[in-house]
Amino acid sequence: MKAHTEYLKFHTKKHRDYIHITPQVEAAVKKSGVEEGLAFVSAMHITAAVYVNDNESGLIQDIDEWLEKLAPFRETYRHHQTGEDNGDSHLKSLLLHQSVTLPITKGKLDLGTWQRVFYAEFDGQREKRVIIKIIGK
Ligand code: ZN
Repeated sequence: MKAHTEYLKFHTKKHRDYIHITPQVEAAVKKSGVEEGLAFVSAMHITAAVYVNDNESGLIQDIDEWLEKLAPFRETYRHHQTGEDNGDSHLKSLLLHQSVTLPITKGKLDLGTWQRVFYAEFDGQREKRVIIKIIGK
């Protein structure tokens, strides 16, 4: 079995941001030499997410508005009694989830036609990381 690990680093200019990372995951798969296996891609933070969906700018805005509707910023979260101000960022992370596991077939990411991988940042303007763990043969 082969195993390959790498880390992507982000430092977004915006508080919330959505970054297309399929090319980086594809590059990691190539580097791993794995022909048949899985790529696990996971945000290493509790105020970020990794998800699979369409790479379309209108859709990203729709997702952002939907998340803000479901988990709006507000002053009154109990989490803010600790002195933090990112209660909504934690909730948004829960809605999109922290990780995805992607199939590798014949040495390539085996995604559906419109499936792309994204890093979603909900509390940016600081150093953040994503782990890519690839296993297979
Ligand atoms: Zn917090």
